Amino acid sequence: MLNWNDVIRFADTGNPAPERTVRKTDAEWRAQLSAEAYHVTRNKGTERPFSSGMCNLFEPGLYSCVCCGTLLFDASEKFESGTGWPSFTQPVTPNAIAYHADRSHGMTRVETTCNTCEAHLGHVFPDGPAPSGLRYCMNAVALQKVTVELETATFGGGCFWCTEAMFRELAGVHSAVSGYSGGQVDNPNYRQVCNGSTGHAEVIQVLFDPTVISYRDLLEIHLETHDPTTLNRQGADKGTQYRSVIFTHDATQKQVAAEVLKALQPEFNAPIVTEIADFTQFYQAEDYHQDYYNLNEGAGYCQIVISPKLRKFREKFRAKLTK
Ligand SMILES: [Zn+2]
Repeated sequence: MLNWNDVIRFADTGNPAPERTVRKTDAEWRAQLSAEAYHVTRNKGTERPFSSGMCNLFEPGLYSCVCCGTLLFDASEKFESGTGWPSFTQPVTPNAIAYHADRSHGMTRVETTCNTCEAHLGHVFPDGPAPSGLRYCMNAVALQKVTVELETATFGGGCFWCTEAMFRELAGVHSAVSGYSGGQVDNPNYRQVCNGSTGHAEVIQVLFDPTVISYRDLLEIHLETHDPTTLNRQGADKGTQYRSVIFTHDATQKQVAAEVLKALQPEFNAPIVTEIADFTQFYQAEDYHQDYYNLNEGAGYCQIVISPKLRKFREKFRAKLTK
């Protein structure tokens, strides 16, 4: 979860890399957007407060950039700030939004832009509600409520730093979050999971758009990017926390998972031991595990284990990547 120190650090020393970038000419943006959305997003305009019904909208769902469609906020992070502009306490991913020092109008503020397409969104202030303490003060015309029904998939295939790094790069995947599933203890921490005593597997929880990438595609990629034939082990990582597992969210996912395991068996020299289990609970891992690879690319484990895997993955699944 981002806090004000992160915001200042990004504004001072540079923003995290986005999942993808979108660039268009001024004429293209002008043709695509309404006059007001163009004025706000491309010319750093500000809409009149209380001018949009979005302020009073609190139904579940997601908000994306009006220019490029990148998901920016989850409705669960939206709150009533009384300012007349839609307000959020946290972006949907740590790299969705870019931050810039803004010294216009005799004030020093932090401007926020879409990290994918550079659309001006609004500003962020350190007077939001706990726990982040942030208030993203947004122009409603810079956002659109996403109507597509996203689906959730949960997989374990060894160390989640690896699996998360790969799935984040797939087109249609809106987020991949590292965490723990399938154990007996509530709210486990990394140390407990690592010593294998809680029964949890290291997993990633993927939010995806099934009109862009199917559950079957995700399963095939999952099985082809780890070793599903070694019981409770991936390479040097041994223990039930590294088991190969698919936690299914409904009967359809369960059926597709069984079909995919059967269909892919001939590609492996040993029996697939991947477990198919009903999803019960997902516990998000500690913040420092999220987007671990991209934030720690220079670390030994990333260079030795993850980078080569990621290179192979990018080669094999190039057609399915966002960039
Ligand atoms: Zn954008």
